[in-house]
Amino acid sequence: MNPTTPAWLIGEVRRAKRGEGRDRIEETSGLLAQLGLPTVCDTARCPNRGECFSHHTATFLILGEVCTRTCAFCAVKHGRPEGPPAPDEPVRLASAVSKLGLAHVVVTSVTRDDLPDGGARHYAAVVNELHRLCPGVRVEVLAPDFLGSEESLITVLKSGPDILAHNVETVPRLYRAVRRGADYARSLTLLRQAKSLTPDIVVKSGFMLGLGETADEIESVLHDLAAAGCDMVTIGQYLAPSLAHTPVARYASREEFNRWKEKAIGMGFKSAASGPLVRSSYKAPFFFGELL
Ligand code: SF4
Repeated sequence: MNPTTPAWLIGEVRRAKRGEGRDRIEETSGLLAQLGLPTVCDTARCPNRGECFSHHTATFLILGEVCTRTCAFCAVKHGRPEGPPAPDEPVRLASAVSKLGLAHVVVTSVTRDDLPDGGARHYAAVVNELHRLCPGVRVEVLAPDFLGSEESLITVLKSGPDILAHNVETVPRLYRAVRRGADYARSLTLLRQAKSLTPDIVVKSGFMLGLGETADEIESVLHDLAAAGCDMVTIGQYLAPSLAHTPVARYASREEFNRWKEKAIGMGFKSAASGPLVRSSYKAPFFFGELL
């Protein structure tokens, strides 16, 4: 039987969905639609869309809207991607960042296992265009695992993002059930390589509570991420995007999220965002500020 969503969480989700008003939300969504730029906020049905859009922030989804993986918790469409990356996407994206006046931009993508480089060169083109058209902007890349290709990771790192994020999403025991096609050890290797290849870059990862993990498993993941060199971690509540997705196994309390934040900081993370509506990109500039 699915657990009942706590009333306090329903209230938080409603507040996040409302954001700061419809006009501001529509300003952001209108500009993105005009430039033909999808966001993970829309595609993954993020509960924070209203809040983030009303602050004129969004997480850009590059490389199309169809993912080659089939994660059971994710609302992004799965299947055969539409084709090669759109060559003008980097310019359109940088233009949107310039018009929105963003100081910190988060770029992510669907997983493109069909492309020989996993889309790494397209990521690099986006980062290069951001540096060219939006000088001074802080660039956060939330990358897929590139099937473990160090060459692809290096391609992205060479373009000079400020933050390299890659989410482990859940504890290793649950990968087979909810994260088919991914590999926990491979994800840790990517994070470790990012830190060792570019020690000055900020490395970030995140995962969800509520998929069936135990407290010991959560603590073990935090240890693994710290050992891999992660500077930042995000911990949020899993919310099933639809009845067809993996059901929520439990709802963590606010107190539990606070305890994990304290535990992470005690392990040496420079920043730990932990709360029911925390997502990898949630208030990304604010949590980056904790590092300064
Ligand atoms: S938390 Fe991230 S994905 Fe969700 S709406 Fe905000 S920017 Fe978009």
